[in-house]
Amino acid sequence: MSGFVFSEKPIQIVEGDGPYLYDDGGTEYLDMGASYACVPLGHGHDAVQSAAADQLSRLTYVQASYPVAVRTDLYERLAETAPGDIDYTWLCNSGTEANEAALKFARAATGNSKLVATMQGFHGRTMGSLATTWKNKYKKPYEPLIGDVEFVPYDDPDAMAEAVDEETAGVIVEPIQGEGGINPASKEFLQTARVETATNGAALIFDEVQTGMGRTGTLWASEWADVIPDMVTAAKGLGNGLPVGATLCREWIAENYGDHASTFSGGPVVSAAAEATVSTIVDEDVPAHAADVGEYLRGRLREELGEAAREVRGEGLMIGIEIKRGANRILKELALNHGILALPAGRTVVRLLPPLTIEKAHADHVVDALAEVLG
Ligand SMILES: *Cc1c(COP(=O)(O)O)cnc(C)c1O
Repeated sequence: MSGFVFSEKPIQIVEGDGPYLYDDGGTEYLDMGASYACVPLGHGHDAVQSAAADQLSRLTYVQASYPVAVRTDLYERLAETAPGDIDYTWLCNSGTEANEAALKFARAATGNSKLVATMQGFHGRTMGSLATTWKNKYKKPYEPLIGDVEFVPYDDPDAMAEAVDEETAGVIVEPIQGEGGINPASKEFLQTARVETATNGAALIFDEVQTGMGRTGTLWASEWADVIPDMVTAAKGLGNGLPVGATLCREWIAENYGDHASTFSGGPVVSAAAEATVSTIVDEDVPAHAADVGEYLRGRLREELGEAAREVRGEGLMIGIEIKRGANRILKELALNHGILALPAGRTVVRLLPPLTIEKAHADHVVDALAEVLG
């Protein structure tokens, strides 16, 4: 045996095109998980591929302290499109690193150490991000993690108000919990977190690693929540499949972030891919399309699944279907009998995070298949 960590699936994927993946036998699969929201524009997107390929042949790498045009363009594009006056960007390679930086920045900028996170939340698997992640399964073997983290029940404004005080460095929260089961927060919860952090001089961090990049029907989930946080983190969809993460922040954070750096921060190839991804999503108004198809898909799921689904939750094309049985067997049947790849979110939730470019016909195909498998 060589290699470990991932349990492998019995399908060998060799090619991708738009919303489809193909295995080594030529079988086509509709990719309703986008490999965890990582390809918002679909597989093999021309603009992203050629931006990355051009950059790869011109200059693959130069240390981050030398300006590179594609990285500067990406900074500008993110500053233009980030919520409110969030104008500064720290680039890295993954979601957990983006959150790790945000937690460090919150401590450095405030001089405090206490962090507030939410039950069922997921923020990544490096030591700092892991400490703000809820599930013991992920944490236990690695303890002790960083200290001074308090967890509050998700979507409980009173508990949030109670937890945030003058000792608080930051609050980290997903606007919709992904791993936790596709749980959307109410505006009231997110707005309470905003008011309490502002009152106490703490930083509000929105972990948009999964909800960002148009996933929930707006470029950032903070837009429908009507909240401007102090930091927003992004990764999964940011490079349409290339490994890149970002911590976006306001000036008061950027002025006092301490001393943080990473060798591969803002590498030219991933910066080019991210610039092309963000530009395409914004210029082609992909979030509006995701909102439209998502509403249609959620509506049809509710209609057609009836009693077989306890609940259909989510925003845009971040959808959770709570079922009465274990999700894993359903996912296997969807893959092997219907050519549809979806994801779990906990034991009883089927999670859909398709490319944002899918059409209503794809949504219909998924509804029919799920109705049959659950029927
Ligand atoms: C996936 C995810 C992370 C971790 O991202 P990695 O790139 O796997 O490190 C953090 N937060 C949220 C909300 C995620 O969905």
